[in-house]
Amino acid sequence: MMASKTDPEFCLQVVQRCGGDFQRCLQCLSCASGCPFVDTMRYRPNGIIRMVQYGFSQEVLESPDIWLCVGCHACSIACPMAIDMPGLMDGLREMAIETGAKINETAILAFHREVLGSIQRYGRTRPWRAPACPTPWPTGSSRGPWTPGPNG
Ligand code: SF4
Ligand code: SF4
Repeated sequence: MMASKTDPEFCLQVVQRCGGDFQRCLQCLSCASGCPFVDTMRYRPNGIIRMVQYGFSQEVLESPDIWLCVGCHACSIACPMAIDMPGLMDGLREMAIETGAKINETAILAFHREVLGSIQRYGRTRPWRAPACPTPWPTGSSRGPWTPGPNG
């Protein structure tokens, strides 16, 4: 990680936003051990907490990790200090958008906006519309890509 300016207020801002006491983290790595997306992350969940504690606001808010988290709660179930990691990641995503942080995971951001926009418009998510299949269906297959199965 590149050393950069730290923000002494950042941890307090995150605590106020997310409502968790992240200073309780023991760096036991139980969260990272159970996270299904840890191999795709740069800092891992426990690393995000450590950087929040140290005030590395830019690194945290521009981190791909906060967008790769799917909120599955595998980490918070395993955490001996009952830290709400999905709540933390949610709050950090909001802060990233609000502060204009550079977000490289544009496809994930677009997906979030689609889902949240749908809830705002319809009060629920509508069925996902798959894009047109760009490749031909395998030769010899008895079913085309959009043919309903026996259960619809
Ligand atoms: S499992 Fe909990 S206490 Fe352990 S490193 Fe992760 S957040 Fe910290
Ligand atoms: S909630 Fe996020 S950080 Fe926690 S295990 Fe799931 S994907 Fe990983």
